[in-house]
Amino acid sequence: MNVGIAKEIGPTERRVAATPDSVRQIKAAGYDVLVEAGAGAGAYLEDRAYQEAGASIAAGTADLWSRSQAILKIQPPLPNPSLRKHEADLLNEGATLICMLRPLSHVDVVRMLAKRRVTSFSMDMMPRSTRAQRMDALSSMSTIAGYKAVLIAGDTLPRLFPMLVTAAGTLAPSRVLIVGAGVAGLQAIATARRLGAVVEAYDVRPAVKEEVESLGATFVGPQLEESEAQDAQGYAKPLSAEAQKQGMQMLHERAALADVVITTARVPGLPAPRLIPAGVVARMKPGSVIVDLAADMGGNCELTEPGETVVRHNVTIHGPVRLASTVPVHATQMYSRNITAFLLHLTKDGALRFDWADEITSATCVTRDGEIVNAATRLRAEGAATAAAG
Ligand code: NAD
Repeated sequence: MNVGIAKEIGPTERRVAATPDSVRQIKAAGYDVLVEAGAGAGAYLEDRAYQEAGASIAAGTADLWSRSQAILKIQPPLPNPSLRKHEADLLNEGATLICMLRPLSHVDVVRMLAKRRVTSFSMDMMPRSTRAQRMDALSSMSTIAGYKAVLIAGDTLPRLFPMLVTAAGTLAPSRVLIVGAGVAGLQAIATARRLGAVVEAYDVRPAVKEEVESLGATFVGPQLEESEAQDAQGYAKPLSAEAQKQGMQMLHERAALADVVITTARVPGLPAPRLIPAGVVARMKPGSVIVDLAADMGGNCELTEPGETVVRHNVTIHGPVRLASTVPVHATQMYSRNITAFLLHLTKDGALRFDWADEITSATCVTRDGEIVNAATRLRAEGAATAAAG
């Protein structure tokens, strides 16, 4: 059975789903591996390295997709302009697809996959359990985004990060505020601290206070009970109006004092919470910088434009949408390890064998046997169909 590694066609996408090292592991598990020519070029992985690892090179896109029974990818299937075909239609009927499908944002693609009886798995729906940790691509990509966000801020800021005592006098350190202390936020805190900034972090989940402090930052969140702010999976949940008001006031005071604000706040399945209104941007110091890592979900800042850098009220606001792809070597290395661990999790005796009683397998599956099996996605697909009919 051929496992195909497709060349990504998304704009600015430089990662590839699997490295030659992973190809070796996939071969050792009993599969043949087919890699699309040039698939690794953006991450500096040459076809020759894949061949040395035991893969065959498919000359073109159509060749790769038609000869593969399973496809490993990063981005969800997209329309391929050079073939004038959607990638979902290039998949063999009944094939398996593993990628960051983000099904709630790509309901039309999910419908196409169900119609083609594709068994699809979404890496971004991996449970946050200890057992699934090595398959957790969201955490891997968030780690990279958190790091890179600080570098972008440092590059734009008209000041230095560290306190410097020089013959020309003392320079005060920059103040960095991190909003959302999840995986990306904690990495941003650590990176900004290493560069010498004074760092504060805001989150609604009280559980993060200790982690924030252990990285040398100050926690400035509202005083909430854990059950008010966090669900059983460890994710933030929508807050009561009172808690929200208390938190917002605190956050806005801190933001107005910061040189850099990096926002990472998300609530799964919902648009990003709006935390920095235009009025707060107007109160920030001239030359300050905002990097909004929730830009792809609408942004935490009211003035963010996804994928753009804009200057508003003399504050530069970055809204990067594919930040992990700007660090393609390490992002590929991490993603490849995650997706390979997942593929091997689905493998028994050299073939794909799905154990639907297994939590990791069932939680990540989006379509199978011609149906949308992920409940939230099915609801959204039915809602969209009803709205279209009405
Ligand atoms: P995320 O990307 O969903 O959100 C980022 C951060 O934004 C979170 O800390 C969240 O609390 C915060 N946030 C949400 N709404 C907010 C608001 N209105 N104001 C301020 N902050 C807000 O989170 P994530 O990085 O994916 O991590 C979520 C949780 O899952 C964390 O507890 C993390 O430690 C845990 N986790 C566990 C595992 C594992 O056990 N394998 C792996 C990864 C993450």
